[in-house]
Order: sequence, then structure tokens, then C-alpha cells
Amino acid sequence: MDHICLVVAPLDWPAVIDSGVLDVVQGPVTRSGARGDGQSIYVRDPDGNTVELRSYPQDLDQPPLDGELVRDPATRERAAADFGHVVRTVPEAVLRPGSVADVAAVVRWAAGAGKQVAAQGARHSVYGRAQVGHGVVVDMSGHNTIHHVGADRIVVDAGATWRDVLAAALRDGRTPPVLPE
Ligand SMILES: Cc1cc2nc3c(=O)[nH]c(=O)nc-3n(C[C@H](O)[C@H](O)[C@H](O)COP(=O)(O)OP(=O)(O)OC[C@H]3O[C@@H](n4cnc5c(N)ncnc54)[C@H](O)[C@@H]3O)c2cc1C
Repeated sequence: MDHICLVVAPLDWPAVIDSGVLDVVQGPVTRSGARGDGQSIYVRDPDGNTVELRSYPQDLDQPPLDGELVRDPATRERAAADFGHVVRTVPEAVLRPGSVADVAAVVRWAAGAGKQVAAQGARHSVYGRAQVGHGVVVDMSGHNTIHHVGADRIVVDAGATWRDVLAAALRDGRTPPVLPE
């Protein structure tokens, strides 16, 4: 036997590693086990033994969703960047909503758990205005349907970009009366 494995509650592994409390040998990486894929790190205990700490996503306390609550480091890192690149706050998770109900469910769940929620579109703002640390970022970019271009309004989903809106309007020979530079 070269190590023992302890299943622990889901943790913010990068924050745990950054804290410097543990002597981390490897990770976090995805490893398969009896309960499916989990996030795992190897640490060295004070006696020099190697101990694996592993968490499983199904142990997370979260509401049922049509979309997904993503916790992988790369996705969370992307949500910690904005146009200014001055403030960098890594969220605990990123919601890719599958429905409007998902957004409501996560806002309710976060409120009950004392967590923060921030919506993100294209993250073109600065100073971390669309970032949260202790909570969830809602990535609206997947909800970008242009529903209707009318004579006096254009109805779009919350993640639609100006580029898409303009392209849709131009197809009808129109432009929005105001555009960002
Ligand atoms: C170089 C540059 C030029 C710019 N020029 C202009 C300009 O000409 N005119 C102009 O108006 N602005 C301009 N801006 C500002 C920029 O356009 C806005 O910050 C940007 O459009 C916001 O959209 P976003 O999707 O990037 O929002 P994000 O940066 O993702 O979020 C900005 C804020 O809106 C909130 N938010 C995001 N999505 C939602 C949602 N669906 N529901 C509720 N809240 C939400 C976020 O939580 C955050 O507080 C400029 C910015 C830059 C960097």
C-alpha cells in the first residue's frame, strides 16, 4: 500500500492549496473511484505518509438543475478575469443555466447558504464588477437567442452580444438607435 484515500466534503481545492497548510504532492486532478469521477489531491502527512484527499461532485449541496454548476479550475479561472485584469476573484462555481428556472433556483439556494451570485455576460467590465469569491457566477453567454426584431424594439436573451443584435437588425435593414463603440 503506498497511500490511503480519504473522501472529504467538496472543497475549493485551489484555495486549500494556496493556503499552504497542506504539503501537496500532486493535484487537483480528476480520478475515478468506486463512486465515479472525483477531484483529488495527494498530500504528505507529518510522518511522511502519502494521503489522498478526494471529493465527489454528488456530495455537493446544490439544487436540481436543467443546466450545470461547473467547478473545474479552468472554468472558474475564466470567470475570474475581466477586461481590466486588475481584480481577480475566483468563484466557487459557475452556473451554465439550462433555463431561466435554473437562475432562480441558484439565486434562492445561494441566498439560503449565504453565498454571493453575480451574472456575467462578455466580462467586458473592469475592477471585478462581475466577479464573486464566496459564491456562484452565472454565465449568461449561452443564452443569446435573438427572439424578435421589431419596428421599435429588439427582444433578445440576456447573453446576446451587441454584435449579434446588430447583425440581426441589419438583416431587416435596421440598426439599434444606440451602439457601444
Ligand atoms: C474598451 C471598452 C469600451 C467600452 N465602450 C462602451 C460604450 O461605448 N458604451 C457603453 O455603454 N459601454 C462601454 N463599455 C462598457 C462595456 O460595454 C460594458 O461593461 C459591457 O457592455 C457590459 O457587458 P458584459 O456582458 O461584458 O457585462 P459583464 O462585464 O459580464 O458584467 C457587467 C455588470 O453587469 C452585470 N450583468 C451581466 N450580465 C447580466 C445580466 N444578464 N443580468 C443582470 N446583470 C448582469 C454583472 O454582474 C456586472 O455587474 C466599454 C468597455 C470597454 C472595456
